[in-house]
Amino acid sequence: MSTIAAISTANGNSGIGIIRLSGDDCFKILDKIFEPKSKNTEPKGYTIKYGNIINPKNNKIIDEVLVSYFISPKSYTTENMCEINSHGGNVVVRQILEICLENGAVLAEPGEFTKRAFLNGRIDLSQAEAVIDVINSKTELELATSEKQLKGYLSEKIGEINKIGISLMSDIEASIDYPEYDVEEVTRQKLNDELTIIKEKLDNLYNSFESGKILKNGIKTAIIGKPNAGKSSLLNAMLKEERAIVTEFEGTTRDTIEEYINVKGVPLKIIDTAGIRKTEDEIEKIGIEKSKKLINESDLIIAIFDGSRELTEEDIEILNLIKNKNAIVVINKEDLGEPKKEIAEQLDIGKPIIKISAIKNKGIEDIYETILTLFSMDKIKQDDSFVITNLRHKQSIENAKKNTEQALKTIHDKMPIDIVAVEIKNILNELGNITGTNITEDIIKDIFSKFCLGK
Ligand code: GDP
Repeated sequence: MSTIAAISTANGNSGIGIIRLSGDDCFKILDKIFEPKSKNTEPKGYTIKYGNIINPKNNKIIDEVLVSYFISPKSYTTENMCEINSHGGNVVVRQILEICLENGAVLAEPGEFTKRAFLNGRIDLSQAEAVIDVINSKTELELATSEKQLKGYLSEKIGEINKIGISLMSDIEASIDYPEYDVEEVTRQKLNDELTIIKEKLDNLYNSFESGKILKNGIKTAIIGKPNAGKSSLLNAMLKEERAIVTEFEGTTRDTIEEYINVKGVPLKIIDTAGIRKTEDEIEKIGIEKSKKLINESDLIIAIFDGSRELTEEDIEILNLIKNKNAIVVINKEDLGEPKKEIAEQLDIGKPIIKISAIKNKGIEDIYETILTLFSMDKIKQDDSFVITNLRHKQSIENAKKNTEQALKTIHDKMPIDIVAVEIKNILNELGNITGTNITEDIIKDIFSKFCLGK
């Protein structure tokens, strides 16, 4: 395969920069452009040499570098690879990349190193996809899930199902090949039992997507309340909390910066932060229409009420709007005293109620705990839990589930057993989409195009 090169570190000035090469001619190219201090030693895998990158055209030194060697097949891509550690800074890393290209390397496409690791069989497609998830993780919990997928947790689960499916296929074949033995009835019973196990396994994976989606996309949250209830004070209190860091997240399209609050590992995406942050002199009448819109767009509503005052018509209207929604009722300004009994009663609409003082930073932790419970996110913190976070995987699992249900129905309807074999084949094909054994070039292209350069 051609030898590819790319800058693997982020743009901008930094302590070091890394230029990566992978392919058959990797060391040939290096010989032309790298002058190690200790010559005449064959490169060994997992070693580093110190020296200079030179421009072979004029023998000018570009930079003082360290080069790490990885000998095939023990490398990220399984090919011969090296990583040139130069000083950071856009100019120096670009110059080194250009010299690599002038001396036989071709510019890597986004994700091409990982794509080669997949095509060369070191990792399967679900693991390759986990690489991008690791890089894009917004919270420690999302990272832990992506790391599990990278290690092959999902591949293992798919493998278990595949094994059962393949063994059932051979049972069916045997019963068709040897009709004189009375194996068909036995096979039918076995098919029913084992397909039920497959269905359970698929159901578990499928259901985990609910949490996985939240982990990856965040909980879209609207803070609503009438003017002066304390929306902006609450937002500030959440941002101030040590664990509630606002992280900038580059969307895959790279043109959006989204803000998340990290709530114990679960990203909370507050919608309309600009609206909430309005300054005193432009206090916005929240407007019921706008509240409705926000409520429709969000997964969670934090409705905040001023507990030190009587409820107004606007408050009552907000309570009506959130009745059938995933909502938390927050009674603010607890520092001014307990809310009157009738106010507390009016606010009790069967939703979790939390008393806080936004300006005194009190009760914020209770809000977090309630959010985690509402979305059943506590469970996924356990070491042995695994959630799928990728929509592509969810769709294939959904299809495999349908195929399994169809297969079970075929058995119950006493249809010919070879039809079940076709259904099982479909299940295996769907799961092959996830691991990449059964996938088109277009889909592969699409998946890797979302990667960063140099990965
Ligand atoms: P918003 O219009 O809903 O965003 O409300 P703000 O957050 O701007 O708060 C309105 C007023 O209530 C401000 O003067 C805040 O200082 C005050 N306030 C907010 N939270 C509290 C609280 O917990 N206790 C007290 N005593 N005052 C608060």
